Amino acid sequence: MIRLARFTMFVTGDCTLNCPYCSQARLRRRLAGYQMSLAEVRHFIHRCRQLGVRYKRLQPSGGEPTLWKHLEPALKLLEASGIAERLYMVTNGTRPKEIHDTIKYFHQVRVSLYPHNVEQAADLARRYPDKIEVWDDAHRRVPSKPLVGVLPSDCGCDWHSLAAGRVYSCPQALDLALRLGLDPDGEDLSCSVDDDFPRHFQRRQPSRYVQPICAMCLANRNVWDRQAGSRTPAAGAELSESIPRRKRITWAVGLTTAPRSRPTLHRTLASLRQAGWREVEIFDDRLKTGAWANWIAGLGRLIQDSPAADYYLMCQDDVVFCRGLRRHLEATLPKLPRPEKAALYSPYCIRRFKGKRWHVVRAEAGRRPGLVHPGGSLTGALCYALPGRAAKALIADRSGLKTEKNVDAHIGIWAHKTGRDVWYHSPSLAQHIGCGISTLGHREDPDKANRRADDFIGEDRQP
Ligand code: SF4
Ligand code: SF4
Repeated sequence: MIRLARFTMFVTGDCTLNCPYCSQARLRRRLAGYQMSLAEVRHFIHRCRQLGVRYKRLQPSGGEPTLWKHLEPALKLLEASGIAERLYMVTNGTRPKEIHDTIKYFHQVRVSLYPHNVEQAADLARRYPDKIEVWDDAHRRVPSKPLVGVLPSDCGCDWHSLAAGRVYSCPQALDLALRLGLDPDGEDLSCSVDDDFPRHFQRRQPSRYVQPICAMCLANRNVWDRQAGSRTPAAGAELSESIPRRKRITWAVGLTTAPRSRPTLHRTLASLRQAGWREVEIFDDRLKTGAWANWIAGLGRLIQDSPAADYYLMCQDDVVFCRGLRRHLEATLPKLPRPEKAALYSPYCIRRFKGKRWHVVRAEAGRRPGLVHPGGSLTGALCYALPGRAAKALIADRSGLKTEKNVDAHIGIWAHKTGRDVWYHSPSLAQHIGCGISTLGHREDPDKANRRADDFIGEDRQP
């Protein structure tokens, strides 16, 4: 299975607007009147399955994608196919009914702001605060001719696109080739959807960022910087004060795994998805470096890949979660006291507490036997959500931590020494499903059989 970052499907060339700065103007002209058929969608899905490709993010685009007459049935097909982890759309917001009708399929919809859609954008943002992002950033004009000294491009996009049966090397390739009078069907820029398109472009990767088209592309940050004087203020931006903007909480999720006699990884991944996380980085300890070494290296990798994430969720491969856990954490964690002193939040808890749902535990208090031991060792590193600041501090301090201890012991001792709080949720929002199953290559933990939360609310319940 090849897992690729993104893919754009140009489903129509039509648009309800005709913006003077439109970066897809040539493409829109070429695809004027075009409507991608459901047969084309099915064929694309079939090809992805044949080639073993899965995308992190798949995006119908245009033109204006809500003008696509097959939008809803196609989204149904794409969702059911499993070829993409998330569906995403950018729209000019001029057709709010189509957005309402299809929002359930999307992970996120970005609505560009114009003077005439401020009310609709505000209404959408209020109704779907988790899904609608209103975009009022400035537009820039595509240069009219290639700029000198901007290649190789500072782009690195790993993002192909489909238009009328051909797959293009990136979403800008077709439009920019047409602007420059190049042949967009040339093999550096495109191939048939019936070709082995992921590998076709992988083979050409080194030459990809020195294409003449890259010298006009706004995705090339070198071009973007040079275009500083050509900003067109976002239409409607000055009218947008009334639109609610919720800061999206961002996550990076890692899962540590090792060979087991009875694998539970797939069940954990399915449960994570139901809990609200679709993108997961898997850290497989086939080399038997040990649970702690794998865990801390995995966390370091997450930080490296997503340095600005608000939270880092590190899970093991034998845990299931309640439905909608992500939403619950996003609603409750920012309200807990002393966020700057939080080491971690554990939705999994083997003890039952009375009263408030989130409880802080500290080693000195000794009031939580079974969860925190003298010296700070914790119990149960099945799933820890670490705030960004704490995760980075832990990585910086890790050299002082001895390697023979378990993950929970290490982190508990570190939290205790650095005066950080450890939070558990009761009732438990996660359950251990690997009890009593040996992890091959890892030392069997004699306490494992007892490590089940007796008040887990269940996989099909919301907190
Ligand atoms: S709304 Fe978007 S696609 Fe349509 S003309 Fe404007 S920039 Fe181009
Ligand atoms: S810089 Fe080049 S490779 Fe990157 S998006 Fe633009 S045209 Fe495509």
